[in-house]
Amino acid sequence: LLLAAWFGFFTGLVEACWWLGQKLLGSKMTALSPHVIWMAPLAEIGWFLLPGAFLALAAWRWPKRVTLPVAVFLLACLGFFSLRFLFPSIHWAAWLLASVGLAGQATRLLQARPAVCADFLLSRRRFLCGSGVAIGELAAGVHGWQWLRERQALAKLPPAPAGAPNVLLITLDTVRAANLSLYGYGRPTTPKLERLSQGGLVFERALATAPWTLASHASIFTGRFPHELSVNWKIPLDAAYPTLAEVLSAYGYRTAGFVANLEYCSLESGLARGFAHYEDYRVSLGELVHHSSCGKALCASPRLRKHLGYYELPNRKPAAELNAEFLGWLSGNAGRPFFAFLNYFDVHAPYLPPPAFAARFGGGRARRHPFLLPGRDWSPAEVQAEIDAYDGTIASLDHHVGGLFDELRQRGLLENTLVLITSDHGEEFGEHGLFEHGDSLYLPALHVPLLLLFPGRVPAGRRVGAPVSLRDLSATVLDLVGLKPWLPGNSLGRRWRKSDGVGGPEAEVILSEVSFAPNKPDWVPVSKGDMKSLFAGRYHYIRNGDGREELYDVTDDPLEQQDLAGTAQGRGDLEPLRKALQSLLTRS
Ligand SMILES: [Zn+2]
Repeated sequence: LLLAAWFGFFTGLVEACWWLGQKLLGSKMTALSPHVIWMAPLAEIGWFLLPGAFLALAAWRWPKRVTLPVAVFLLACLGFFSLRFLFPSIHWAAWLLASVGLAGQATRLLQARPAVCADFLLSRRRFLCGSGVAIGELAAGVHGWQWLRERQALAKLPPAPAGAPNVLLITLDTVRAANLSLYGYGRPTTPKLERLSQGGLVFERALATAPWTLASHASIFTGRFPHELSVNWKIPLDAAYPTLAEVLSAYGYRTAGFVANLEYCSLESGLARGFAHYEDYRVSLGELVHHSSCGKALCASPRLRKHLGYYELPNRKPAAELNAEFLGWLSGNAGRPFFAFLNYFDVHAPYLPPPAFAARFGGGRARRHPFLLPGRDWSPAEVQAEIDAYDGTIASLDHHVGGLFDELRQRGLLENTLVLITSDHGEEFGEHGLFEHGDSLYLPALHVPLLLLFPGRVPAGRRVGAPVSLRDLSATVLDLVGLKPWLPGNSLGRRWRKSDGVGGPEAEVILSEVSFAPNKPDWVPVSKGDMKSLFAGRYHYIRNGDGREELYDVTDDPLEQQDLAGTAQGRGDLEPLRKALQSLLTRS
């Protein structure tokens, strides 16, 4: 068992160094926290103890066959082989062959030094002093670095303007507007948001600049379109342009982010820039499993998931915990206006509403989880079962967001706080043969809720019909809190300050984009290349990666079923849209 623990420790250490190297030297996104440096060795010790226990039993039963060199050889094999998870493109047989060879050499080396085995590897005290102390020190180091980073950021803050309002930006990840009762959906999915909206302004047609998390958030934070930014599927937001958090920090705001989308909103995504306090990964058993290559690979195995009947993400951070993190931080915040960013992940696939909401909307139907069987051959009943579950997660999130606002109201914080509630993108349920998001620029993937609350400064109980882009949110915040327009974009204030701007659609072009995604099946639109789309007046124009154009009249055909690009009517309307897209791209 001690031998197994040592091999687990060293395997985890190699993994951790590899991932940290990718993060720090390669600036790559790894979907892992800095805690990987101590979590990977600790988690691998846990995994290695399982085969270690089998070996211990075998050694007890057959002491002459399962000798120390045999145990060393088998554990070394396992250690080298499990590193294959870091290089999934290498064939497993080749890696196994290399592992056997390396394990043979490791065994020979240890056999030549029996004292190392006896005094070091088989000493409980040495194990605890060696690996235990190293793990403890590394964990303390990461926590200390985070603490210091926050202290330094706070020490640099200038005095804030007197009476400056707070800003609270909430993104309900993956929530599409069409499934909210706030937007007229037939099911009562958002009673709490509806009540909140009576005190604020609802935008009927808010559009994300991208159908996926990082590009959309980066655009919200910088006021720029995705093609102007560094972000791509595995590339974080760089420091080329300032973010809203940086601008507000420069005005003395205390800034904090609380995010549950760990793949695309964590510290390494670049979105944390400008936030003095940032909470993404937790220290939990789920994270421990997720931070070892072995655990990650097991979680990603559809066959194992199906066998276990377990579909949840092991490290999902639920809304209740996110609220607790934010409210806890808020309790220690006094004397300065704050800018807080909350990203909830409860609605993201796999759609697993908590028990109280699971049966609310036709629950109980047999489910076929999208990540188990991606494809296009879904029956209407299977699609409906996913929508039922999706609606349940929205209702659950609405409940928790409502609870958060009850608490903020009790604390008297809503009177002087600008609140923006939106989503980074929508979700598709087979409207065009696609599921989830990030694959196309159709309306279900782009149309998101947008609600503004600011007592006395944003009209209450009103709705704006004109299409708006989330790209303008940062400019809107700076405008409403009375600061200079340091970021690009146009304040949405123009939508309610002009008497003719409320309610009626206005001719304004709104750009959305998604970059070419490699490794996607060829029936997925984004596999053809970079895509762009424009909303202008009543039209939605899409230019696919292969140059194919689509045109929909979203007023008469909101589900985008009638492509007008090839019709006589459509051909006449295409030319000005092509020109508008070209001019927008040239300008930006
Ligand atoms: Zn997202």
